[in-house]
Amino acid sequence: MTYYSLTNTANMATFDQAVIRGLAPDRGLYFPSETPRLSEDFLQDLENKTAVEIGFEVMRPFVGGSIPDARLRKIVEQTLCFEFPLVPIHNNVSTLELFHGPTMAFKDVGARFMARCIGYFNEQNPKKVTVLVATSGDTGGAVASGFLGIEGTEVVILYPKGKVSHIQELQLTTNGNNIKAVEVDGVFDDCQEMVKTAFLDNDLNSAYNLTSANSINVARWLPQSLYFFFAYQQLKKQGIDKDLVFSVPSGNFGNICAGIVASKLGLPVHHFVASTNVNDTVPRYLQTQEYNPYPSKQTISNAMDVGNPSNFIRIQSLFNNDFNALKQQFSSFAFDDSQTQIALKALYNDYNYIADPHGAVGYLGLQKYMQENPNVHGVFLETAHAIKFRDTVEKSLDVSLDTPEQIQHILDKTPKKTALKDYDAFKEYLLQRA
Ligand SMILES: *Cc1c(COP(=O)(O)O)cnc(C)c1O
Repeated sequence: MTYYSLTNTANMATFDQAVIRGLAPDRGLYFPSETPRLSEDFLQDLENKTAVEIGFEVMRPFVGGSIPDARLRKIVEQTLCFEFPLVPIHNNVSTLELFHGPTMAFKDVGARFMARCIGYFNEQNPKKVTVLVATSGDTGGAVASGFLGIEGTEVVILYPKGKVSHIQELQLTTNGNNIKAVEVDGVFDDCQEMVKTAFLDNDLNSAYNLTSANSINVARWLPQSLYFFFAYQQLKKQGIDKDLVFSVPSGNFGNICAGIVASKLGLPVHHFVASTNVNDTVPRYLQTQEYNPYPSKQTISNAMDVGNPSNFIRIQSLFNNDFNALKQQFSSFAFDDSQTQIALKALYNDYNYIADPHGAVGYLGLQKYMQENPNVHGVFLETAHAIKFRDTVEKSLDVSLDTPEQIQHILDKTPKKTALKDYDAFKEYLLQRA
C-alpha cells in the first residue's frame, strides 16, 4: 500500500513515511492509493472474531509491510485494550460507546495506535520524534495518554485558552514525562494554524524530527474504521439485519471519514450522517455545493468546534469528488446548543440514557435522518463519556454524575502548562528546548 498527497498525487509515501511526516511535503493530506475489499468470508465470519483479530486484518493492508505482522498484532492488542459496547436506546436505535478507554473519548484508539507505530519506526533512530498536536478538547488528552512513556517520542500539545473543559485541561496538562502542554491565547483554528506553520518552518525542521498527531495523520485516522466493524458485529449478534445507518458527531470529520473507508472495504453501511454543532461548514456545503468555511464558534460540544474540517477533502476523494455520489450515501445536519440540551434531556427522560453533548448531537442527526427514512437501524456514536462535560450534563439533567476511575486519579494533580500568544512565541519556545 502506498499513500499519495491530495495536493499532488505524484507525491507518494509508504505507510511509515506518511506516519512520520504527518502531512506530505506539499502540505497535502495523505490518502491510501487503494481500498482493498475485505473477503466475503471475513464479513461472514465477523461474529466469531475478536476485536484484535478484526483490528489486525483490517489494518494490515494499510500498514503495507511497514511493520512486521507479529509486531502489528501486538500494537493492535495494546490499542484495543477496552470495550466498545453497542447499547440499545430503543427498538431501531442503538449507540456505540467509544468512551471506555483511558481518556474516555474515542480518540484513544487512534492515538494509541499511532503512538505505538511511531515507537516502532523510531526504535533504531537516536533522534527523538517530536509530535505537535492542536486540540479543541479531546485530541490532546488522548494523544498525551497514548504517547506517555513511549520511548523516542516527545509530545507538544497546543490548546485554546478557556475553551476546553476542566477535566480535558487536566488530561492535557498533568502527564509530565515526555508530554508538554501549551495554552494558546486564541481559538482552536489558531492552534491548528500554528502547528501547520511549524511544519513548514525550516529552523524547526532542522532542529526537530517533527510530526503531527491530528487526525490528518493516517495512523490516527485509519484505525477508527474499526469502530464500524465492532458495531456491525454486535448488531449481527443481536439479530438485527436492517439497513444500517451511522450518525457520527463530527468536527474535523476524521471519524466519519474512517467509517466511509470501512464501507469501501466492504462493510455494508446504507448511509452516513455527519452531525455537527453550529460549526456547519459541511451541512451548508451539502445544501449549496459551495465550500465556504467560517471561523469556529464555541459550543457545548467543543471537541467539534471546527470551522474548516481538515478531513472533508478525504471524504470528497472517497467519492471521487462527485457531489451527487457523495449525497447518495452521506448527509450532514447541524444543531445548536439548545437543541443539544433538549436531546440530552430526551435521551435521559425517555430512555434513561445519559449521553454527553457530542453523543446528543449524533442522536439529533440520526433522528432527523430517520424521520424520512424510518425503515433502517440507526447507530449514533457516543464519542465521549458524560463526565468530560460534567457541568453541561449535570445542569441539563439535574443529576450528579459519578466520577469514573480514569478521571478520579487526575482530579487532584496540578496542571503544568506554558501560556503563549502567537506563532513567534511558540517557535521561540520550541527552539529554546531543542
Ligand atoms: C474529536 C471529537 C469529535 C469529532 O471527531 P472528528 O473525527 O474530528 O470529526 C466528536 N466527539 C468527541 C467527543 C471528540 O473528542
